[in-house]
Amino acid sequence: MTKRFLVTGGAGFIGSAVVRKIIRETPHSVLVVDKLTYAGNLASLAPVAEDPHYVFVQADIGDAPRVRELMADFQPDVIMHLAAESHVDRSIDGPGEFIHTNVVGTYTLLQEALHYWRALSAEGRSAFRFHHISTDEVFGSLSETGFFTEATPYDPRSPYSASKAASDHLVRAWHHTYGLPTVLTNCSNNFGPYHFPEKLIPLVILNALEGKPLPVYGRGENVRDWLFVDDHADALLTVAERGQVGESYNIGGHNERTNIAVVRAVCTLVDELAPSAGIGPRERLITYVADRPGHDLRYAIDATKIERELGWRPKETFETGLRKTVEWYLANRPWWEAIRSGVYQGERLGVRDTPTATAAA
Ligand code: NAD
Repeated sequence: MTKRFLVTGGAGFIGSAVVRKIIRETPHSVLVVDKLTYAGNLASLAPVAEDPHYVFVQADIGDAPRVRELMADFQPDVIMHLAAESHVDRSIDGPGEFIHTNVVGTYTLLQEALHYWRALSAEGRSAFRFHHISTDEVFGSLSETGFFTEATPYDPRSPYSASKAASDHLVRAWHHTYGLPTVLTNCSNNFGPYHFPEKLIPLVILNALEGKPLPVYGRGENVRDWLFVDDHADALLTVAERGQVGESYNIGGHNERTNIAVVRAVCTLVDELAPSAGIGPRERLITYVADRPGHDLRYAIDATKIERELGWRPKETFETGLRKTVEWYLANRPWWEAIRSGVYQGERLGVRDTPTATAAA
């Protein structure tokens, strides 16, 4: 059966991967609703822009009348909610936008989804899904051992993860209280093509290409579990279509790496794929900088539930995904050069002593 997907945040890193996947690999239709903040980029949707099953609308998820109108016009079967402020360092500098979009915006979207869902036929109501996309960072920080499961108590530590935790709680409450058919996913760190170059892997690729310092926080010993973004997109479609209502699913790549190991792996690949006699071995560019305040030591995901119940497994290893990623940045200079010469030029974020109170209201 063909379905209609309303995807919030579809011009972002993960959202655009989901939209490209739906348009290229399924008969479904997509409406992207995205505010186009600094992180939203229509160039990431250019590969599907001409497809008759795809429509883009620039709108803020916090704009209730506009959201109501869009839902009424498009008549979605599934809402995939990825719109968010997503960068921990930015949440340290200015948490207000994180509360505004991640908490209040999710509340607004839930209220409008509920209004829309209640007016559907009985059949439409039982088929409808509200899929909230979240992060493993809501679970807090692990020491050297252990994994996050779906039953791990929430313990967020940064303004970003606290805002995502709040949104997860709202989604559960709208299911339990009002019966809205929700599914929830918590995923580990993503990497891959179209990743905004302030995040670790693309920043290191681009700085390595340009012979600039490669900043590593603290001693580079923090551990993250990395997942190739197309594998995440695949998992999200699996959960949106086959996940059990009211359930949450952890998504991870079985790819735990220290940050310094990630940076060294990028250096090796950039040396191989873009050798430069002038720059020399890229590892020489590694520069240790002051740690992120409150930097969580380790995240690691137990993703056995989604594998056992829905049959999803990642296709890429860290190594195969990283090679594809470096190759993509080498082949797609116009995409990132536009960003590097404009909205973000590689500056350090997230080291302010006092956060700025931006637009929380
Ligand atoms: P991103 O920052 O690349 O994209 C976010 C998108 O949301 C942008 O296109 C932006 O314009 C849009 N947006 C922001 N505020 C909006 C608003 N008020 N109204 C409408 N659109 C708005 O983020 P991403 O990395 O693609 O992450 C997508 C989702 O997945 C987020 O909810 C994030 O918390 C979650 N997530 C991300 C990761 C990761 O590693 N990147 C891991 C797990 C979960």
